[in-house]
Amino acid sequence: MYLTTGMLDRHDDDIMLETAVCKVFCSEMGWRAVNDAMQIMGGEGYMTENEVERIFRDSRINLIVEGANEVMQSFIFAYGGKQLAEHMLGVRESIGQVYRRPALLKVAIPLAAELYLGIKPRSPAVTMVDASLRPVGRRFARLVRDLSHNFKLASRYYGEAIVWRQAVQARVADAAMWLYAFACTLSKLDRNPNDPAERDAAMHLFDLAEHEIRRSFREIFQHTDESMQSAAKSAMAQIAQLPNSDYAIPEASPVARGTGRKLPQDGIKRFPGPVTGSPSVDTQRDIASSPSARTQGAGGPSPSPCTQGAGASSPSPCTQGEGRGEGSVARHRDEGRRQKTESEHFCPLPSALPTRSPAPRRATM
Ligand SMILES: Cc1cc2nc3c(=O)[nH]c(=O)nc-3n(C[C@H](O)[C@H](O)[C@H](O)COP(=O)(O)OP(=O)(O)OC[C@H]3O[C@@H](n4cnc5c(N)ncnc54)[C@H](O)[C@@H]3O)c2cc1C
Repeated sequence: MYLTTGMLDRHDDDIMLETAVCKVFCSEMGWRAVNDAMQIMGGEGYMTENEVERIFRDSRINLIVEGANEVMQSFIFAYGGKQLAEHMLGVRESIGQVYRRPALLKVAIPLAAELYLGIKPRSPAVTMVDASLRPVGRRFARLVRDLSHNFKLASRYYGEAIVWRQAVQARVADAAMWLYAFACTLSKLDRNPNDPAERDAAMHLFDLAEHEIRRSFREIFQHTDESMQSAAKSAMAQIAQLPNSDYAIPEASPVARGTGRKLPQDGIKRFPGPVTGSPSVDTQRDIASSPSARTQGAGGPSPSPCTQGAGASSPSPCTQGEGRGEGSVARHRDEGRRQKTESEHFCPLPSALPTRSPAPRRATM
């Protein structure tokens, strides 16, 4: 992260790749850490009283928002590999002119030797690190060289199909991300190479990164993608035979949207009061026992917080349809007459969502 923000501070022209790597890597590691934390705490970690449960829920969204990680992996593969892919294509396209341009041999021969004989070029030199970290620098340099080597081999092996082989792209991207994490950690350790705690943590990261990178390299070529695709195709064909009305269909479905089973909404916290039918007993109990409800002297299901001591006679913001009562909320905020309640933050406003044709039909998602 700090290596990347440093690039921003020194006004580097293009840090799209590095920021994409930060987004994916940090969200994946954050999720892994909180998932481990919950597992370590056992049942207690699952309970609401302990902060871990909330962090667990909050972390999950980071893999989806600001560019879903699978989409970002393809971006990292394509944008990160662009120059090398263009170089290889350039050599391939101009190789027929080698008699007129013998200088081409200088690039074509090493590339051919690498692709067909497995002869790798020399690793880059990493010199600007503390003397005690030079072996780590050499290890890093070998991995950089090997990433480039595996990218070239993958391009040759998959040919043009690599453009749509997203599972393959993801493995190349994973290797690149771990390599970047390696570089960031080496850079940080280099500032303080003698701190034992930092050093031990960094050494573990280097091991972990190399392990993950080498695994990704292997899995570029050895994987279960083909049987996965066959299984997915069969499953999709089977799913297409099932009646949509028995199943939950996501709103984003381009074909079957609105044809699925209506899901119970009772467990979702919402404003108290007569919004769209009575909330369930559980919801009423939750709301009644919430700190905000207690401060309002509510002993049971209370009317809209908007009407509580605000001196306003407006209905609940929830009842104001598409506009989500923003006018009402804003007015209260401006007047400083009340604070947002906890339950207001959870208000999903199901009644304000557009209604769709309930006619069930069979279709794929
Ligand atoms: C709480 C919350 C707050 C949000 N806030 C904002 C906001 O402030 N501003 C804003 O602009 N947006 C916001 N969003 C929307 C958010 O940016 C999107 O949810 C996110 O970009 C993912 O898009 P999607 O939900 O349409 O999922 P989809 O794009 O439908 O993705 C669903 C799944 O399919 C995968 N997928 C999709 N396309 C591909 C592909 N080409 N290759 C491989 N896999 C693919 C994804 O990785 C994902 O796993 C918010 C969402 C939530 C839940």
